[in-house]
Amino acid sequence: MWKAIHGCLPVDSRIRDIDIPIVSRCDCCLNYGDEDLNHVLARGDFAEKIWRICSVVLGVPLMEGSSWRQRVDCWHRRASNSNRPGQLFGLLPAIITWQLWGRRCKARMEDLRESVHQVWCSIKYWVSWIALKLKDVNGLTRRDEAILSCFTLPLNSPRKEIVIPVTWKHPNPGWVKLNVDGCSLGNPGSSGAGGIIRDYKGDLVCGFAAATGHNSNNFAEVMGLLHGLRHIDQLGLLFVEIEMDSMLVLNWLRTQRCGLWYMEDYWEEIQSRLANRHVSFAHCYRESNSVADGFAKMGAKGISGSWSSLSELPASIRGNIRLDRGGLPYIRKVR
Ligand SMILES: [Zn+2]
Repeated sequence: MWKAIHGCLPVDSRIRDIDIPIVSRCDCCLNYGDEDLNHVLARGDFAEKIWRICSVVLGVPLMEGSSWRQRVDCWHRRASNSNRPGQLFGLLPAIITWQLWGRRCKARMEDLRESVHQVWCSIKYWVSWIALKLKDVNGLTRRDEAILSCFTLPLNSPRKEIVIPVTWKHPNPGWVKLNVDGCSLGNPGSSGAGGIIRDYKGDLVCGFAAATGHNSNNFAEVMGLLHGLRHIDQLGLLFVEIEMDSMLVLNWLRTQRCGLWYMEDYWEEIQSRLANRHVSFAHCYRESNSVADGFAKMGAKGISGSWSSLSELPASIRGNIRLDRGGLPYIRKVR
């Protein structure tokens, strides 16, 4: 699209423009027309047929004989973000243009002349692939539904959200619970690790945050676990329930293999710190890991430290610790 807009696709007319004398012969018409950008992408027999199909399917005026730019603008004026057909109006000109150019190059370089049907099928294929990322904000009209069904896209309306309560569970008497989390603003971006150790009554033993530099989420998650275990060691705690929301890191722990080669040193330290105590691992939902998340976010903002009394903590973290202690649920929304 960028090349077409700036007139730098290497069509015959462009090559002549830079004083290379060639005989122009398009690959799209029976009577071999002169090849310029508008011929390949809009006015040639083949391009005209493709635009016609798309216009009929999506109900866009055909604009016979108009330039490529006029057609694209006409489609873009109909584009909107409110539902999938609206988004397709914005995306289809790019897909059509790309396919027309691809067809031209295959004919020119490989002597392969795709039929109108083949090109139309690949346009549909691209649409169905891209449509996975599109979302309806507003409801669909009959016309919209017809457009989607032509591309064999499902008509699913926005699914309902289900709300489930999740709570932080106290550890068993005699055990402490370590919740850890990592956070990366931008992933990768400014990252931080954090977590909290609580006793069986849900009271704070130690909360910690650590800035972990410009790194990924997964790196920060592992660092959260490492810092947590260092604090566990410092406090001489022997029975630890570890909880986190990263399935990935939990899988690494289960298989005893770290998926990030540059973390090997940290990973070894984690393994050795785990070896000398009773530990259990569990997955928890992000919502019930809110306190650890709060500490990780502090880390990502560049704050490092540890806290053993509530009074010095930000109000939001303090509030969530109280919620957890009282067994009050967080709201988890699932589709
Ligand atoms: Zn032609």
